[in-house]
Amino acid sequence: MSTGLRLALAKGRLYDDAVARLAAAGITVGDPGRRLLIPTSDAGLDLLVVKPGDVPVYVESGAADLGVTGTDVLREADADVLEPLALPFGACRLAVAAPSETSYPNLPDGRTPRIASKYPRLAREYFASLGRSVDVIEVGGSVEVAPLLGLSDWIVDLVDTGNTLRANGLTERATILESTAVLVANRASQKLKLEQHLRLMGMLGG
Ligand code: AMP
Repeated sequence: MSTGLRLALAKGRLYDDAVARLAAAGITVGDPGRRLLIPTSDAGLDLLVVKPGDVPVYVESGAADLGVTGTDVLREADADVLEPLALPFGACRLAVAAPSETSYPNLPDGRTPRIASKYPRLAREYFASLGRSVDVIEVGGSVEVAPLLGLSDWIVDLVDTGNTLRANGLTERATILESTAVLVANRASQKLKLEQHLRLMGMLGG
């Protein structure tokens, strides 16, 4: 491990907010372009840009010292990382949605509901906690269209404004998880580089 810190960030909704917080702390980040390892104006900090779902595994393995991800992704990944700081952006919720005209939670014919989701683990866990049996179908995106196409009865997906659900004739029926951005840290790295971790936490949380 080097003495500096490597922070894993996901391209997407949380990226701009995380970079804005670094900027507010006086750290500038160049345009990543196609680079995946990006230096910053702070010699002790560089950024690793990965897919959102990969942040937990990069941090758990120590390839990155810290990362910014959403609680949703973190719980789905079930990674063994520290969560030293909740961050005040990226708020959304993981919810169950069903076509507006259908009954919930019982299907009229008593069938086992099929649920499309990018969050198969959390979806299964939620319905298991209610003692309900469901079939979960894992999809990689465009989840909201699954009921329209007959792929599933319901979906479990992230909701922010609810506009995407409404546009696809879906109604939110239950909240599984309130999610925000969270700073995650590799356990060994935090022990070895505690001062640098505290400094970065001050910058991101301040
Ligand atoms: P909305 O129409 O504002 O409810 O946003 C819903 C769409 O945006 C869904 O396709 C979600 O997968 C996605 N989404 C909402 N919030 C987030 C978030 N914090 N991170 C990533 N994707 C999100």
